[in-house]
Amino acid sequence: MNKGKLIVFSAPSGSGKTTIVKHLLGQEDLNLEFSISAASRDPRGEEVHGKDYYFISLEEFKKHIKAEDFLEWEEVYRDNFYGTLKSEIERIWALGKNVIFDIDVAGGLRIKHKFPEQTLAVFVKPPSVDELKRRLKERSTESEDKINMRIAKASVELATAPQFDVIIKNYDLPVALEEAHQLVKDFVSK
Ligand code: 5GP
Repeated sequence: MNKGKLIVFSAPSGSGKTTIVKHLLGQEDLNLEFSISAASRDPRGEEVHGKDYYFISLEEFKKHIKAEDFLEWEEVYRDNFYGTLKSEIERIWALGKNVIFDIDVAGGLRIKHKFPEQTLAVFVKPPSVDELKRRLKERSTESEDKINMRIAKASVELATAPQFDVIIKNYDLPVALEEAHQLVKDFVSK
């Protein structure tokens, strides 16, 4: 099997990494396919099963953990489990494509450690914690409690940035998109 490259985008929730990942997926020169994670939370807004996530029950998620089906998994928030199924990476490699991940910092670093040469691990840095809070509130798909839970986690996650291969500052979106495109292009054509 042709083993493609692994491109990891990690950041605190609200940093804009999902926007960057979606933009890169539209760039044909990068030959990317999105790694659809399994998640034990309910779909939000317009999210679709099998496109944004494989939405599964907590029980089903735990069965996959036991069967060692995951390349990595995390209880990102209490009782909200997220993970990358090994079968997902194999599906994408079989298509002859590179894999792009939108995952939390712990999961991102785990993939980097498992495949050090093949992986480009990118950390997306938001302008500030206050801006993060503003973006999450603007998105308003979640309760105040859940937003506060995400903010508390963000400060811990920001401290892991130096462990990544590259840090992209998402202060000005068009600049961040261009920087991300160039970085990934250089890495996949190596
Ligand atoms: P959300 O609920 O906002 O979609 O995602 C919450 C967090 O979980 C985000 O930081 C997201 O990137 C992360 N996440 C999504 N999928 C995975 C995964 O497969 N593994 C890990 N470790 N984190 C994930």
